[in-house]
Amino acid sequence: MSAQHVVKPYILAANGSKLQMKFELKDMIRLKTMLSSNLGSVSAEFTFFTDKYGSKIKLKSRAKLKVLCQRCSAEIEIKVPVASEVLLVKTDAELEKLSDETDAITAGDELSLAELLEDELILAMPMLPKHDLVECQARQYIKDAKAEDTHRPFAKLENIWSN
Ligand SMILES: [Zn+2]
Repeated sequence: MSAQHVVKPYILAANGSKLQMKFELKDMIRLKTMLSSNLGSVSAEFTFFTDKYGSKIKLKSRAKLKVLCQRCSAEIEIKVPVASEVLLVKTDAELEKLSDETDAITAGDELSLAELLEDELILAMPMLPKHDLVECQARQYIKDAKAEDTHRPFAKLENIWSN
């Protein structure tokens, strides 16, 4: 992880700073195990601000990631949009006091934006990425399987009764 991705989030929030950053996929150790290719990068925009709840970061990113289709095993590129807002708290005790609806993370004086983005991308990844059926190489098998399911059992029944 590159040191330039570590920031002082409370100072940035107090100043209302905005950062644009680029991250290499190969550095995202946990995310890359979910991908079929770790070439390329992801850009993200971080807006730091404060409101009545405390210091917050608004995070926006539109990653294009390569994964294997869970239907035909060929590689596909999927878009994984991230748009989230997280509240920063200093201790786990503070985190526990918050309601479940509040998206919050614990952050000390320093925070790795690479890790924050990676966490959000992992959450945003589809569980079972697939081609649209018209583009999927497995569509022929699916059509055949459906045809078998709907026709064969009845054909057999008809044979029994006609005998
Ligand atoms: Zn497919």
